[in-house]
Amino acid sequence: MNDQLLLTSYLKTLRLPTMLRECPTVARQCSEADASYAMFLQQLAELEVQHRQAQSIERRIKQAAFPVVKELSAFDFAAVPKLNKKRVLELSRCQFIEQRANVVLNGAPGVGKTHVAIALGREACRRGYKVRFFTAAGLANAYHEAREERHLLRLENHIRHMDLIMVDELGYLPLDRTAAEHLFGFFSQCYEQTSLLVTTNLPFADWPQIFAGDERMAGALLDRLTHHVHILEIIGDSYRLNASVTRTRKQAKADKTST
Ligand code: ADP
Ligand code: MG
Repeated sequence: MNDQLLLTSYLKTLRLPTMLRECPTVARQCSEADASYAMFLQQLAELEVQHRQAQSIERRIKQAAFPVVKELSAFDFAAVPKLNKKRVLELSRCQFIEQRANVVLNGAPGVGKTHVAIALGREACRRGYKVRFFTAAGLANAYHEAREERHLLRLENHIRHMDLIMVDELGYLPLDRTAAEHLFGFFSQCYEQTSLLVTTNLPFADWPQIFAGDERMAGALLDRLTHHVHILEIIGDSYRLNASVTRTRKQAKADKTST
């Protein structure tokens, strides 16, 4: 076997596909620049590491199952001046995940809760954390299905495996008794084990409404959730509504000038 074939076979055995692919280019560049052998190897290894890191971020983002792509860079903080931008940026550094603390984003529909939540979740993926997005209804449903199909343990293991679980839209739909009990079980399991990022339109005082009117269950759940918690209130007008009003006004203006 010639040298090239041998090298290809070794790099394949060692599972170093980027080094294999980039080897000719880096070899040429290094020879042109008169770089050392050590520099050649370092550059190749660096490309392999960078590629692997990018792939694992992509994998974590896919596994998180975010419904849409949202980033903090696209969030207009000026639209919600009462939201503390510094605190949001601080949270995006993900220390709260290390501390197994929770985040609650509270606010009316359309103020940007899901946007901020997904952006924080994606940042956590980039920093190497395992994240999973659920809506509250979706999570209750996942428990329901897992119980029907007798793989509750599998779902619980999946949850145990995560660093951050997002529960979006808690309070939009009232939960029936069984769903409320499932979510109670979920919150208990995550207590001091897995960070939660919850978005809700309801103040804590109204949470019994979500949990089938059961004040004791809602109280016990809140007790766990809020033991270590960062609460962010987003107060403002619906961004969706404002955007559509602006669009309509622009359209009306355009119609007027064209007639
Ligand atoms: P909520 O979850 O509070 O109901 P969303 O996060 O779904 O609201 O926001 C509704 C839409 O408006 C989304 O498309 C979101 O990206 C956008 N949006 C909301 N607030 C802002 C903001 N301050 N800057 C940019 N886009 C925003
Ligand atoms: Mg939302």
